Amino acid sequence: MRIGIFGGTFDPIHLGHLVLAEQCWEQCRLDEVWFVPAALPPHKLDATISSAKARSEMIEFAIAGNPAFKLSSIELNRSGPSYTVTTLEELTASDPSRELFLLIGADSVRDLPTWREPRRILELATVVAVNRGRAAVAQAETVQILTEQLGIDASGRVQFVEMPGIDTSATDIRNRVADGLSVRYLVPRAVEMYLRENGLYGRKES
Ligand code: ATP
Repeated sequence: MRIGIFGGTFDPIHLGHLVLAEQCWEQCRLDEVWFVPAALPPHKLDATISSAKARSEMIEFAIAGNPAFKLSSIELNRSGPSYTVTTLEELTASDPSRELFLLIGADSVRDLPTWREPRRILELATVVAVNRGRAAVAQAETVQILTEQLGIDASGRVQFVEMPGIDTSATDIRNRVADGLSVRYLVPRAVEMYLRENGLYGRKES
């Protein structure tokens, strides 16, 4: 089984995440994509994030009806910061026949050398880098940066997927909701209803 592992805060899940997952599924011929919400993202330790329950429920609503998309609570069930390397180790140990692909927006892939045990991450999974927004990913440069900073040949360990640029972020969605602006079509309808009904991001249903 070829499994795409897609980690993030997903506060909330939005169109950019879903199109990224679908394009990786198609272009990398994945069997499944697992959405892995982080309990405590290591780079957002001081930020206030919505509950694990709310973020998970929104993912479930968003992926309902797509048999290739799954929610994985592996990081929510673990205490402490959510390190990707630990997640990949656990998934490999529980089923070594799985081939893992780590799906990452291009904004994050260059930060990979600062993550915990980046070389081990590249041993455990093929990194799939996807453009964020309309600018194409500088592929050769990205491979070169990883190769130089990690001291390994990263060329065979990174793949690139191009998706239609979707210039939104969860921060943008949260700000829009807080300002009383529409997020229709930026998130699935069920997510829009969920955040309205639950008063997420500072605006209660009137
Ligand atoms: P925030 O605005 O709260 O930082 P975010 O929208 O960046 O959130 P995350 O949950 O932190 O979302 O991101 C998870 C992953 O999804 C990251 O790899 C990120 O690069 C990628 N991603 C998020 N939004 C997009 C988008 N619009 N297009 C492509 N990739 C995206």
